[in-house]
Amino acid sequence: MPPNIHEPIIGLPNFKIISYQGTKLIEILAEYTGTIGCIHCGSVNLRKKERFQRMLKHHSIGLAHSVLLVQTHKFYCRDCGKYFNQRLPGVLPYQRSTEPFKDEVATKHHDGSSILKVSQRLALGQATVGRYYKRYLGREFNEHKNASCPKILGIDEKKFSKN
Ligand SMILES: [Zn+2]
Repeated sequence: MPPNIHEPIIGLPNFKIISYQGTKLIEILAEYTGTIGCIHCGSVNLRKKERFQRMLKHHSIGLAHSVLLVQTHKFYCRDCGKYFNQRLPGVLPYQRSTEPFKDEVATKHHDGSSILKVSQRLALGQATVGRYYKRYLGREFNEHKNASCPKILGIDEKKFSKN
């Protein structure tokens, strides 16, 4: 498999599916195949320490929910002497959900399902749905702003922000 390919079911770079099981809840056992670099200095001169099994809520596949099971490690960096827990693409530190899952939550609400319905459907707290949605809106807004704001507007920016 060439590097950087998006595994189509997972939809994130550098994952390889080892196996999957389940019908209502699909458990996808996957392996991260990308390069691992030190989060402090970027070095790849690392020593593997403890092993972790991470369980991440992932986007629905058809009507089924899915979770990604991925083994990660704590690493020791031989170059800077620091320890770190391995990061995964599409997963923010300390999160138990993937970014595609959060996007699914947010877009479901955006498309008209109530927070209550989305929280029931995806087995989440309502506050969590609200938080993902707020973040999604913030991001959409920024992308829109960056895409449609001509550079020349910058001249008047100060004037506006004073009001
Ligand atoms: Zn380092």
